[in-house]
Amino acid sequence: MTEPTFAPRVFSGIKPSGGLTLGNYLGAIKRFVQTQDAGTESIFCVVDLHAITVWQDPAELPGMTREVAAGYLASGIDPERSILFNQSQVAAHAELAWIFNCVARIGWMNRMTQFKDKAGKNAEKASLGLYAYPSLMAADILIYHATHVPVGEDQKQHVELTRDIAAKFNHDYKVDFFPLTEPVIEGPAMRIMNLRDGTKKMSKSGESDMERINMTDDADTIAKKFKKARTDPAPLPETPDELKDRPEAKNLVEIYAALSDSTAERVLAEHAGAGWGQFKPALADLAVDKLAPIADEMKRLMDDPAEIDRILARGAERAREIADPVLARTYEIVGLVR
Ligand code: ATP
Ligand code: MG
Repeated sequence: MTEPTFAPRVFSGIKPSGGLTLGNYLGAIKRFVQTQDAGTESIFCVVDLHAITVWQDPAELPGMTREVAAGYLASGIDPERSILFNQSQVAAHAELAWIFNCVARIGWMNRMTQFKDKAGKNAEKASLGLYAYPSLMAADILIYHATHVPVGEDQKQHVELTRDIAAKFNHDYKVDFFPLTEPVIEGPAMRIMNLRDGTKKMSKSGESDMERINMTDDADTIAKKFKKARTDPAPLPETPDELKDRPEAKNLVEIYAALSDSTAERVLAEHAGAGWGQFKPALADLAVDKLAPIADEMKRLMDDPAEIDRILARGAERAREIADPVLARTYEIVGLVR
């Protein structure tokens, strides 16, 4: 049997689980815009059903959903060229996730490091949804037959699991229905670290605001956070190799490289020998330069929540046009009477 060819299509999502961070911007949104601008058919989602795998205050969730939407729009996602919507408005995601819950194996879920990190020591008390999260993520991707998923490094394992689910579905039902999706993880800042602990990822749901740069932070806050960021006493070295055992230093150099569309090599070629008292203010200026216009636009957009809701509803309508026939065909393959 010949392999079907799937037209290139990109899907990716961000949870409304807090304010957007520099990690979300460099690891995800900035690259989404590049994908869109390169002309690839692109679908971007505010994955609200993923957010509620941990407790979200219903009074705050709509605002966070709109903030993530505003972050996409302010960074350059064009809701005409791309499809932009929130997950819960397209029921097919949750429906396909159920089918995938019956395809994925418990042993696969047990290997997921994000569950271990997020559930912590008290895994028995974590929600069943947090455990099943990767199966919903596979559905998010495969309901659009997406071929490529740009994500940060932390999500690589989940995209690989998506491939396993697609392969097992295709094998069990003797079809070539779902593509084997590729994770796209390239660039200098695919895992931005926490500013206070270079061994942990920067996350929007992290405990302290000082450990992350938010996309909406003002110039003073950004300068203060970089100033207080943990570092070691040594100056900047000449080559990236010498940053191997210096996680905090490596992180700040990589942030600088990503913000300036450069590489760690080039940043070090320019700043080797500099101390932190020199490098940190330069980094803060660069971050403000890149983030301030986006933050201003986000604020402008968030002043008109009805307009954001209209954009999301229209995006959801377009998403359903792709998703619903895929779900219908899936049900048929599985043998569910319609
Ligand atoms: P949470 O703490 O709630 O998990 P998060 O900051 O990890 O929030 P997600 O919504 O889980 O954000 O992830 C959205 C996208 O941002 C994903 O593609 C993810 O890989 C990317 N991303 C998240 N954090 C980072 C980071 N520190 N560096 C690079 N990319 C990141
Ligand atoms: Mg995350």
